[in-house]
Amino acid sequence: MRPLFIAGNWKMNPATAKEAVALAEAIKNGVGPAADVRVAVCPPALFLDQVDAALANSPIGLGAQNMHWKPDGAYTGEISGAMLNDAGCTHVILGHSERRHGMGETDAQVNAKLHTALAVGLIPIVCIGETQQEREGGQTEDVVAGQLTGSLAGISAEQMVGIVLAYEPVWAIGTGLTATPAQAQGVHEFIRDWLTKLFGEATAARIVVQYGGSVKPDNAAELLACPDIDGALVGGASLKEADFLGIIRAAQ
Ligand code: PGA
Repeated sequence: MRPLFIAGNWKMNPATAKEAVALAEAIKNGVGPAADVRVAVCPPALFLDQVDAALANSPIGLGAQNMHWKPDGAYTGEISGAMLNDAGCTHVILGHSERRHGMGETDAQVNAKLHTALAVGLIPIVCIGETQQEREGGQTEDVVAGQLTGSLAGISAEQMVGIVLAYEPVWAIGTGLTATPAQAQGVHEFIRDWLTKLFGEATAARIVVQYGGSVKPDNAAELLACPDIDGALVGGASLKEADFLGIIRAAQ
């Protein structure tokens, strides 16, 4: 019922547009003209235009890694949703933990960005997840519920269907420590229940919730087999075409 969705978050990599285009072309060739699963790549903003051109005639979506919540104006260094649209973006990652924890991004800011992204027609991928300390303190569900409440404030059931969530335990990102399928499924089930309470069962059943955190070709299949895990947001492994294509294959 929910199509699996594999997205690659390239973060601040690679260093050159040439390498970014080469990676996009390799992924495009590997995926082919019609993918059975939804696929998107999220390169650095500076390379969006060129990666968009490289992905022409491919089913692969193009995502940005961040955006500002204002439509335009005096916001030095920022990028608007309209600019992302113009560069060919279909998706935008919002509230990634590296922005929440590294840049002090708040739920209120993520929420403002979310409303703006929807207004300009981008599909948002909203990230949530607990730190190691919060997990060890038994606070995982409280933290995730708090992030969901803050980030999704003012969102209707109708809008919610067009939003992707990504559960990314902070302790599993870039560390090689993957949540076990049981740990991940446990939180995904909690998220589905939370969505059911807020938006009703029919809507909750349609919302795609990705898992992220050290997803690799050799652990993807068992994570993706979990009933409430609907795809993956992939960091490190999305920079190697063989690994990213391996994860896409595991979803097929
Ligand atoms: P990782 O990153 O796959 O390198 O752990 C995931 C993410 O940050 O989205």
